[in-house]
Amino acid sequence: MATLDTLDLGSGITDGGTHGAFRDVLAKNHSRRGKAPLHLADMSDDERKNVARELGMPAFRVKQLAQHYFAHYNTDVATYTDFPSNLRETVQKSFFPTLIEPLLEQEADNGETIKTLWKLFDNSRIESVLMKYPKRVTLCISSQVGCGMDCPFCATGRLGLTRNMSAGEILEQVRIAALQCEEGKLPGGPTRLSNIVFMGMGEALGNYKAMMKAIRQISTLPPEGFGISARNITLSTVGVVPGIRKLIDEHIPIRLAVSLHAPSDDLRDELVPMNKRFNTTQVLDAAHDYYAATKRRVSIEYALMKGINDQAEHARLLAKRLNHYGDDWVHVNPIPLNPIEGSRWTASKPEDEAQFIEILHNAGISATLRDTRGSDIDGACGQLAAKELAEDLVRRS
Ligand code: SF4
Repeated sequence: MATLDTLDLGSGITDGGTHGAFRDVLAKNHSRRGKAPLHLADMSDDERKNVARELGMPAFRVKQLAQHYFAHYNTDVATYTDFPSNLRETVQKSFFPTLIEPLLEQEADNGETIKTLWKLFDNSRIESVLMKYPKRVTLCISSQVGCGMDCPFCATGRLGLTRNMSAGEILEQVRIAALQCEEGKLPGGPTRLSNIVFMGMGEALGNYKAMMKAIRQISTLPPEGFGISARNITLSTVGVVPGIRKLIDEHIPIRLAVSLHAPSDDLRDELVPMNKRFNTTQVLDAAHDYYAATKRRVSIEYALMKGINDQAEHARLLAKRLNHYGDDWVHVNPIPLNPIEGSRWTASKPEDEAQFIEILHNAGISATLRDTRGSDIDGACGQLAAKELAEDLVRRS
């Protein structure tokens, strides 16, 4: 079977910048990749009105467009009966260029999990995963093409970073999933998309501006946004400390998830290269400050790797370090690693997973082992599905 190392994804994913932090996580060739076409979701209200004026449309039409997009998830202008037919084609091109197209869909868990591989305007690939739970429907979305953080156990990390996604590209994943929910694509009939997690491809804080623009439009009520509560949005980061601090100043109560994966700097330096830039103390300080400012419990993501970070001593040190900041400010999500082929990092033994959780519980730390669905999809800090999707493409080609 082809592996990521050998297969030509035809993905447009080029060698990326795999070192550095925050601004400089961007690949050197990032700026040459070109920008996604401008979409209604990328424009401010004034920008939308300017485009409307150029098209000879009165300003009130902009609100109608936003209503179609955010309240009805509809970008097919040909069906807008409240729009003059002579304007529809131009409006389609100027406000709703196609930003993402489905290439492959995989279903799991009796249809309650749907993974989609998307093609972007420049032939890049990203993925999103829609998951139905008894009391919520969660969409896991991508914010960058590839990832520049270079974690050695992660398939996406091997791809490097190709480019940041635009706010429109991020939001199109949400719109399409919301439409699928409304149209009853998930078992049980029509439902509402209730939760968003930034745990697909990419380090969301490395694409701060577009990510924040997207978060604001996800959480604002229609016709300015999709109306999904900010409290139901989770942002996962590998620990980009300036980004976490900037997020505190936004005063928006999203949940923060930190991919820690190791309780000490020695070990984390090896598993998460970004740790050399922002060490565990800096990351945990920032995470606790986030909790103090928002009163939202922080999630600590911890991919359990056999014999590497899953032993009793690791659990005890993790508990000690978290308890240093006080009680009840954090929830730990140990995740069974979804290993990549040929990697020396493999999944923990079930008894080690159980022991890890027990030690955390005995130390008074809230912790839940992710279910297999979560681990299958969320992987390390959420980005391990890339390889699986790529291989599936090869099998089908
Ligand atoms: S584990 Fe997360 S941060 Fe690390 S390379 Fe993979 S996607 Fe990037």
